[in-house]
Amino acid sequence: MSAVDTAALKRLSGAHHWHPFTDHQELAALGGPRIITHADGVWLTDSTGARILDAMAGLWCVNVGYGRRELADAAYQQLTDLSFYHGFFKTTTEPTVRLAAKLAELTPPGLSRAFFANSGSEANDTIVRMARHYWALKGKPEKRVFIGREHGYHGTTMAATSLNGMKVMHEQGGLPLPGFAHVMAPYPFEAQGQMSAEAFGRLAARAVEEKILAIGPENVAAFIGEPVQGAGGVIIPPDSYWPEINRICREHDILLIADEVICGFGRLGHWFGSQRYGIRPDFMTLAKGITSGYVPLSAVMVGDRVAETLIHEGGEFYHGFTYSGHPVACAVALANLEVIEREGLVDRARTEIGPYLREKLEEVLDGHPIVGEIRAEGMIGAIEIVKDRRTRERFAGGGKVGLMARDHCFNNNLIMRGIRDSLVFAPALSMTKEEADEAARLARLALDLTAKDLGVL
Ligand code: PMP
Repeated sequence: MSAVDTAALKRLSGAHHWHPFTDHQELAALGGPRIITHADGVWLTDSTGARILDAMAGLWCVNVGYGRRELADAAYQQLTDLSFYHGFFKTTTEPTVRLAAKLAELTPPGLSRAFFANSGSEANDTIVRMARHYWALKGKPEKRVFIGREHGYHGTTMAATSLNGMKVMHEQGGLPLPGFAHVMAPYPFEAQGQMSAEAFGRLAARAVEEKILAIGPENVAAFIGEPVQGAGGVIIPPDSYWPEINRICREHDILLIADEVICGFGRLGHWFGSQRYGIRPDFMTLAKGITSGYVPLSAVMVGDRVAETLIHEGGEFYHGFTYSGHPVACAVALANLEVIEREGLVDRARTEIGPYLREKLEEVLDGHPIVGEIRAEGMIGAIEIVKDRRTRERFAGGGKVGLMARDHCFNNNLIMRGIRDSLVFAPALSMTKEEADEAARLARLALDLTAKDLGVL
């Protein structure tokens, strides 16, 4: 693309395109957005010809890497054979059924049915409706409250935003809706203090139990959590956390929702985060890695006890999207799952490239004056930025340092994401060791520049 086209596109973007999660004044002051034109593996190319190493797999979604021919071929073939048909009114299509069966096979036992939607947000809104309907059918219509967590992220629709634990989102639009409560996150770096990881995990889980008891178990429908919290800052819970959550939900008869939108499809080095942590969910939210982001698709895995009740006692459930189970999206998902299986990408994330990337980061950032912690699970992780490594004191400014570091990454053609005072990463599971070396080198450069800005180096 020529320089002229780039300038014209930037002008058009400024005039006509409303970006997601963007301060448009700030974007205009920067001269408009970067325009991405091509991608291959972990590499993006922009309209100026610059090559950028994407250590975020897009938005935590391109698990198999960009540019896979067979996913494009699957889409082309399906578009040619049957571009669209839906699942309303007693019909379906072959890829839809095959994908539902494949997901039932891959997910833990007891999750036999998939409902399809287009985004993680829609899937979570679906769960809110299904869970409330379930309890109503069980003769407990007052069980309506959902408990989420601080720093939790579940999407941007009304119910999903209400599930989120993000105050800045709630402040816009008068949310959360009634019937949504929140508890602390199991965030060791911020809150563990002198406690053992084991004790802290149990303490954070008990906060859920205390909230259930305060609201009254007879009023609580479900608890929702990401196995590892992603957009909230890659918060990795101690191993003691989820078993305790299983117990609490079982004892108080609360449905358990594992939002696996980021953790699913190998990100943590297991097919699902629920397998990594032994979570026993009644619902699983799936999206992103289900198609590696090649086309939009999400799914709700519905646990058997909920499904049986809705099917046998519920009659018609008045819910569904035009594109629920879109055949092209499902065909691409099937091709994507085939790549993950054939190339052993799940094991690779756990035993090979995940540990390698983490060790590389530890090596190049060893003793770095503003790095307080490097943590990772499979192919997702975070680098905590602090003023004082010993006390974990943060820099002044209330959580803006991650964005400074992110900008230095961006200016040096590395994509990582700034969340409060951390830099987070979640590259494709197919990343090579050489690419991991390069990502670590560029992250070091960005953190050196950040330290200089902060007057540390
Ligand atoms: N749940 C989680 C855990 C997510 O990370 C996201 C998106 N980042 C969502 C739900 C919402 O997905 P979508 O943006 O597709 O609506």
